[in-house]
Amino acid sequence: MTNADGNEARASRHGPAESWVDVYVSPPAEERVRAGSLWVFEGEIVRVDAGGGWPEGESLSPGVEARVLGRRGRFLGRGYYNPAANLAVRLLSRQDAPIDEAFWRRRLEAALAWRHQTLPGATAVRLVHGEADLLPGLVVDRYGPVAVVQFLTAGTDARRRLLSALLWDLLQPLGVTGLYERSDVSVRKLEGLEARSGVLQGQVPPEVEIEENGLRFRVDVRGGQKTGYYLDQKLNRARLAAYVKPGERVLDVFCHTGAFALHAAHYGAAQVIGVDSSAAAVAEAGRNAALNGLADRCQFVEANAFDWLREWERKVAAREAAPFGLVILDPPAFAPGRRNVEAALRGYKEINLRALRLVAPGGHLVTASCSHHIQVPLFEEMLRQAAADSGVAAQIVEKRGASPDHPALLSMPETEYLKLFVLRRLG
Ligand code: SAH
Repeated sequence: MTNADGNEARASRHGPAESWVDVYVSPPAEERVRAGSLWVFEGEIVRVDAGGGWPEGESLSPGVEARVLGRRGRFLGRGYYNPAANLAVRLLSRQDAPIDEAFWRRRLEAALAWRHQTLPGATAVRLVHGEADLLPGLVVDRYGPVAVVQFLTAGTDARRRLLSALLWDLLQPLGVTGLYERSDVSVRKLEGLEARSGVLQGQVPPEVEIEENGLRFRVDVRGGQKTGYYLDQKLNRARLAAYVKPGERVLDVFCHTGAFALHAAHYGAAQVIGVDSSAAAVAEAGRNAALNGLADRCQFVEANAFDWLREWERKVAAREAAPFGLVILDPPAFAPGRRNVEAALRGYKEINLRALRLVAPGGHLVTASCSHHIQVPLFEEMLRQAAADSGVAAQIVEKRGASPDHPALLSMPETEYLKLFVLRRLG
């Protein structure tokens, strides 16, 4: 863990590893940063000076350490700067001290300590959640013996060897025997980075097994979606216990590897149907059902959810099929960007409208959205319109969010992404 490890790109090509640049930001950015935002956009940068030890005239390497300064040179914080990204600066610290190995170690230790406190003993858990852990650009998910790491920005990518070494150091004593990189996500394109994945440290088997709320799940850390599993819904899945009435039928739409579906079966559902468009996910869901001795009550279907819901809405209306006691809707983010919000709301409304018609009177709809750009009020308004158009009267029974290992930064509403409502159909 030398300086060269810590700042590979910079140390190898440009000047001393402890150098940084001074980034002066516009008044609106200064105000936002002072209110707790960690982000400065490219258009908000007034001037970049070579600053501390950066060789004059050298081009900047992406992810270079930056001191962020406001009007009259007022110090705002330290972070890293990617001249090639629209989201150019991410702050790491409000202190004017170098972002060195000791800094990263302290930050990682704090993130780990919090998980230990809030989900003691959990071995399937998000250990680092980017901005909300004041570690922008870094995600670490633990799946039993393997921790999966994502370097999402140039700032973390440039320090990947240091961060991997620190994580390895901190996680081995907790029983982690392999570190795997899954930086194969499209957001890296915005940083000018290629996709990358592979073993960082230790041994990484093709699949690992995790335990969640007393159930077992196989996780494909190398090839599965995102880092392999959706840990953010853990407590929401446990909450299904309150909504599954023994003997009822349950529908889990966008079921992925069967997590909600298997919880429903575990809590007493007589029959569960899971629907997902990914053949790999559906196959894995079947294996997970068998692993938990629930295969006889679970059926997983590979289908487009929009088509499937339309078809079953017709079947239920024609009394060819009975409605469900509980329906779960956990779709992917329909609004990956601000521009997609309108279209996304139409998509959310369509699936919720149809799903409400599939719920038996007195039954429940558990409905989620993980789109950052659709905040709770907008989501709730969409549900109101879906209910109105479907002619279904419903109560809002619960409003929930992500499990506590996926916190949001209070000062950055954009870090709060997962919302989940429980509705109860009346009449
Ligand atoms: N409920 C899951 C996570 C769902 S993630 C869990 O608890 O683990 C969203 C899922 O939607 C993914 O598995 C993806 O394959 C699936 N998906 C995306 N578009 C779809 C579509 N049009 N129809 C059905 N499934 C879709």
